[in-house]
Amino acid sequence: MQDLKPLFPSLNLSRPVIIAGPCSAESEEQVLKTARELAENGIKIFRAGIWKPRTSPGGFEGVGLIGLPWLKKVKEETGMLTATEVANRKHVEQALESGVDILWIGARTSANPFAMQEIADTITAWNKDVPVLVKNPVNPDLELWIGALKRLYNAGIHRLGAIHRGFSTYGKHIYRNMPEWKIPIELQRRYPNLPIFCDPSHISGKRELVASVSQQALDMNFAGLIVESHCNPDAAWSDKNQQVTPDSLNLIVNTLVLRDKSTTTENLALLRQQIDRIDDELLDLLAKRMRISEEIGRFKKEHSMPVIQADRYNNLMEQRVKIGESLGMSEDFIRAILAAIHEESVNKQLEIVNKSN
Ligand code: PEP
Ligand code: MN
Repeated sequence: MQDLKPLFPSLNLSRPVIIAGPCSAESEEQVLKTARELAENGIKIFRAGIWKPRTSPGGFEGVGLIGLPWLKKVKEETGMLTATEVANRKHVEQALESGVDILWIGARTSANPFAMQEIADTITAWNKDVPVLVKNPVNPDLELWIGALKRLYNAGIHRLGAIHRGFSTYGKHIYRNMPEWKIPIELQRRYPNLPIFCDPSHISGKRELVASVSQQALDMNFAGLIVESHCNPDAAWSDKNQQVTPDSLNLIVNTLVLRDKSTTTENLALLRQQIDRIDDELLDLLAKRMRISEEIGRFKKEHSMPVIQADRYNNLMEQRVKIGESLGMSEDFIRAILAAIHEESVNKQLEIVNKSN
């Protein structure tokens, strides 16, 4: 992929490029209201899902064809470029026919080489110049992601970008999709001219984390962000927990720090980034530990065992204190941390044991 062309030649954008809009187009009113508010805040590219790939049947699968004229109206009224997700030949044809400016490939589709080839061939037959953004596949497989991009590139589509939306994993974590930053960073290393966007919404799964994930992406030199924004997030038909209002998005964007590589605070920023990541991992590990404690609680309940087993607790504490001290931490600190974790575990187990069912 040596000969990539500028993604959005008609726009004069500076980093970070922000693409924003609802997870799904729901009604003409919702699409236009959201678009107007975003445009007022200076957003130049509007996203909205028309066809929604849902993991389970029965979820909202998008409004389909009737939503395309709404995107056209957004463009006419606000001047924003419009973007939507395509997953097959029909989507590509209908989107391009109705003047959608940018296509993106969803995570479930980029994992499928047959679908990617079909999409690449259909786009080539229509308009090779349309910009296409490729989300990472759901599984953490860099070669699969690159394969999807290459199918488009080899078909002659050279306005390409990648979207990092995190990777799915088993069990509950603080993120909906684990960022695994090393993967987009390796993609950037191999293809320095390929613009990479971060999708903090699908990584986070919750709006409270959108700002910090966005900042991490900028710290890693991403070209921009694609963020889900809805005029009334709590009423959204899909992904409501991760959508932010256009005004919240504005606040997030305005507080993002674009780090100047030459400043002396760069090292500090990198160190803080590491601390943030380790804190996230610590929380993740603690949550995992609590879930195992809950399992133990269920076992104790089934076997009528007491929740508190003092011997076990005392042994555990003494062993851990020794390990902690050997790693350079004070006895008081280790005792305080372990006591707090133990207390939370006991409370969780008591809740289970005392629940009548
Ligand atoms: C989306 O962008 O709304 C979407 C469905 O994303 P993903 O393919 O990342 O799950
Ligand atoms: Mn979504």
